[in-house]
Amino acid sequence: MKVIDIINNTDKTVFSFELLPPLKGQDASKLHRTIESLLEYDPKFINITTHRDVVEYKEQSDGIVRRQIVKKRPGTVAIAAAIQHKYGIPVVPHMVCGGFTKEETEYNLIDLNFLDIHNVLALRGDGLKTETVFKPEEGGHANANELVDQIANLRKGKYLDSELTNNTPMDFCMGVAGYPEKHFEAPNMETDLMYLKQKVDAGADYIVTQMFFDNQKYYDFVDRCREIGITVPIIPGIKPLSLINQITVLPKIFSIDIPEEFSKEVAKCKDNKQAREVGTEWAIHQAKDLIAHGVPCLHVYTYGIGDNTAQIAKTVF
Ligand code: FAD
Repeated sequence: MKVIDIINNTDKTVFSFELLPPLKGQDASKLHRTIESLLEYDPKFINITTHRDVVEYKEQSDGIVRRQIVKKRPGTVAIAAAIQHKYGIPVVPHMVCGGFTKEETEYNLIDLNFLDIHNVLALRGDGLKTETVFKPEEGGHANANELVDQIANLRKGKYLDSELTNNTPMDFCMGVAGYPEKHFEAPNMETDLMYLKQKVDAGADYIVTQMFFDNQKYYDFVDRCREIGITVPIIPGIKPLSLINQITVLPKIFSIDIPEEFSKEVAKCKDNKQAREVGTEWAIHQAKDLIAHGVPCLHVYTYGIGDNTAQIAKTVF
């Protein structure tokens, strides 16, 4: 089932969560345990992230240091298919522009279609850690709106090869990312919202937000989206803080604010166990308020660990 149909056909907030594919060298047993610990809360869809290649410099046996391109978390399409087929829950694999040519993206989408996966989240992806700015792959997309265009074309049966005619359309439901506190590269909120609207106008069915710890930022963001004519559902994404150092790491990575009241509570924590409890309580408080405001779906960033997400779901669903 498509995410947009799930959301449109329910009058109460549904639950969904995001997982990372296993690290190279690990099997998927931990990931399955996480999913199984959350099944009783009736997740309506599961997102699977995609991680682009990283550049590593490693000393070889001949003593020479060589540049290597390494995939740390391969297998998004395969693990997404395995989850959907094992649990019967729709999956939403993330498609990123970074590191992929348009042809490779098309082949991935063809695979997804054959695997009966009809939901995707269309993203640009971040730059390589070794680059200060995002550099598109040669022959790839520079921004998510171009990927949205490509997927929207495939929905009409239009492939990159214009000589292919009478093609079967690929029926994808498409989400895109939105930033209640602005994307870190955008010069201002107006510009960021203009580009968000471009993605929606190009065919995105819904928006999922970056994590936030202050619900008012989400409500203001939704208001501003509505003011400029973005009418699609806007799914809030929340992350339960789980380590003391995340109070400084998360703002740095995601360009978000931590409310003073929350950071003071975390500062009192003596260890990560206490921080995890405080983080989960804060997320529960956020979740209750979001549900009371009638959000279509509560999307939790699990980072692969299910116990705090289960606590949130158990309390609010
Ligand atoms: P875009 O929409 O392309 O926006 C990027 C920046 O460019 C913004 O500042 C925007 O204002 C600007 N912009 C947009 N369009 C244009 C244009 N046409 N011309 C000029 N400027 C433009 N990353 C991963 O690598 N893997 C994942 O699985 C992943 N999952 C995510 C899930 C969610 C819900 C979210 C919110 C983010 C996720 N990310 C993931 C991170 C995301 O890839 C980064 O935030 C990335 O920097 C931006 O992606 P985007 O799709 O928002 O890009």
